[in-house]
Amino acid sequence: MSDAEREDLRRHGILLTSLEELYNWGRSNSIWPLQFGLACCAIEMIAAATARFDIARFGAEIFRPSPRQADLMIVSGTVTKKMAPLVVRLWNQMPEPKYCIAMGACAISGGPFKQGYNVLKGIDRFIPVDIYIPGCPPRPEALLHGLTQLQEKIKAERLAGPDTARHLRPENPGEFPIPDYGAHDLQPPNNPALFSPPSLPRKP
Ligand code: SF4
Repeated sequence: MSDAEREDLRRHGILLTSLEELYNWGRSNSIWPLQFGLACCAIEMIAAATARFDIARFGAEIFRPSPRQADLMIVSGTVTKKMAPLVVRLWNQMPEPKYCIAMGACAISGGPFKQGYNVLKGIDRFIPVDIYIPGCPPRPEALLHGLTQLQEKIKAERLAGPDTARHLRPENPGEFPIPDYGAHDLQPPNNPALFSPPSLPRKP
């Protein structure tokens, strides 16, 4: 049945759906973010939950203090190398299906501190990121836009078949190796399964 036919039926009070659509509709409209922030971007994330921006309109107002009860990690702020192992540990403690938003330049790439010896150049070196929100900092509206993009992504997930969602495929791990904060740097400096640094040819 085409979308036009379904829309025609809906106008006559008949709603046709599938278990997959119902399941994804419920999940996409009840996202529970993990309650933590890392730096200045977190202030904008907090603002998104205030009455002015009202993240509750999108069903994502229940910030959970425990990773066991959260399905969205918003990495909002600078990830220092000392903090990175703890962020990965929190991610591992979240149950599947789970999603990650990298909010702001720091979480995406290290931002203005990219050249700093103590700053991770992007959280996607250790955990998979679903949505990137650029800015320094992104405004609350940008976070809400990223949230709606994530909702669209969840609604498009398939429960079976060749396009089965990531969390339903057994070959995809839900947990990732936690790096050690060593004497000089993170060990390993990235998760090779997720990120490989570009090789820069040196001139002789
Ligand atoms: S991106 Fe800018 S506002 Fe956000 S944590 Fe980094 S320095 Fe702060």
